[in-house]
Amino acid sequence: MQLLTSRRIGGGGIGGRVRRTNAAAAAAAAPPPRCDASSPPVPGQNVTPSDRAHLRRALDLARLGLGHTAPNPAVGCVLVAPDGRTVVGEGYHPRAGLPHAEVYALRAAGRAAEGATAYVTLEPCGHHGRTPPCAEALRDARVARVVVGCADPNPLVAGGGGLAALRAAGVAVALADGEEERLCRDLNPEFMARMEAEAEGAAKRRAEGEKEGAARR
Ligand SMILES: [Zn+2]
Repeated sequence: MQLLTSRRIGGGGIGGRVRRTNAAAAAAAAPPPRCDASSPPVPGQNVTPSDRAHLRRALDLARLGLGHTAPNPAVGCVLVAPDGRTVVGEGYHPRAGLPHAEVYALRAAGRAAEGATAYVTLEPCGHHGRTPPCAEALRDARVARVVVGCADPNPLVAGGGGLAALRAAGVAVALADGEEERLCRDLNPEFMARMEAEAEGAAKRRAEGEKEGAARR
């Protein structure tokens, strides 16, 4: 256990001991439904009360990084075994330049990530930034399902980059709505505002490019 514990505590890792939460256990009786991989997830669809409880835990983890992650958002991740209640890994993004929350949770879980559900407060990145994309890391670890607290307006992430890659690989994807979505979004107001502005700018440039293209034709 000593060895396991020291391996599982990293910058953004929280002790890897298996925990059961009451709220999650209460709602874990029914396995979560799989998403339809052919269509983009609708917020709130296939999100169970147990999912919401695990997202709340991921939110608590994300808050541990608050104030230290700029220009990155604070993000938390929880990996839960197929029984729907055994937490096999936890992590959060401690600061820019260090691994993302998903990476710490995957390291903590090791082989137990296979078949697990990942709860992430923010859509996993699908682009190569300073770290490899978390969507790829989740897919490669054979996570069965990803529940996302809120979508990332970052033009590099939005448009389903990370989520589309996961769905294409057969990973079920669900998006939260309601209170959990709001809490996840409100965790990083400055990041969200900046990314929304960038997304708007990118959309405008695209529209102008199309207009110019049409004028030339
Ligand atoms: Zn990432």
